[in-house]
Amino acid sequence: MSGEILLRAEGVGKRFGGFVALNGIDLEVRAGERLGLIGPNGSGKSTFVNCLGGSFPAHEGRFIFDGKPMAGLAPHRRGHLGLARTFQLPRPFNSLSVLENVTVPLLFGPARETSPAEARARAMACLEQVELAGRAAQHPRELTQVDLRRLEIARAIALRPRLLVADEAMAGLSHTEVAQMLELLFRLNAAGTTIIMIEHVMRAVREFSQRLVVFVAGNKIADGDPNEVLAMQDVEEAYLGR
Ligand code: ADP
Ligand code: MG
Repeated sequence: MSGEILLRAEGVGKRFGGFVALNGIDLEVRAGERLGLIGPNGSGKSTFVNCLGGSFPAHEGRFIFDGKPMAGLAPHRRGHLGLARTFQLPRPFNSLSVLENVTVPLLFGPARETSPAEARARAMACLEQVELAGRAAQHPRELTQVDLRRLEIARAIALRPRLLVADEAMAGLSHTEVAQMLELLFRLNAAGTTIIMIEHVMRAVREFSQRLVVFVAGNKIADGDPNEVLAMQDVEEAYLGR
């Protein structure tokens, strides 16, 4: 049961030099939705998230999030508007503790009226959600791969986003760890967070996605019911290499 359009990408294009990484992507995401985004390596998935998150500007088109055009807004401003993303390669602040990593986004920007004590309490609650509370005092370099991915999610949800984009949050995780990560994303979604899951772990994508979008070479080639999309011959050829 999805609500209003929360995110709309209109003709988003991105070039790196002469290389077209994204070619006029149109995409709508409804509030409360669980959307899967798949595609071969290099098909533009992370580039799409980077443009959406404000890491770099799109060359053409625009994103409307929660009714507001995102153009020109810095990443932290988008974060405070309810847009969160994780990075494919976790990027913690290595000199800070696990708890401090989650507290930082709460102490800057519009949320800085929050007192340090409140920020710590909220950060701790996020760590509890991702089952990382027991490692609050440790440093990122002491964490396992799965715990680094959990920390990445905890940092992303600290500002209570309306939309969370998880960019390959399951890469390198074991079967059990994938199941745990999946459960966490389901829980966040049940609590009202709209989620875009970018993933190569097809078992997880199938189980999670209510709708599936496929990128190939910077183009959106499919968008619809996951079973129907996965049954399309060109998806098999492009994505599964058959
Ligand atoms: P995906 O996430 O689908 O694997 P990416 O969005 O990371 O793909 O990359 C799409 C294409 O854009 C790739 O060919 C990649 O090499 C290129 N690309 C991505 N980011 C940059 C960048 N910052 N500079 C130059 N080329 C880039
Ligand atoms: Mg990527």
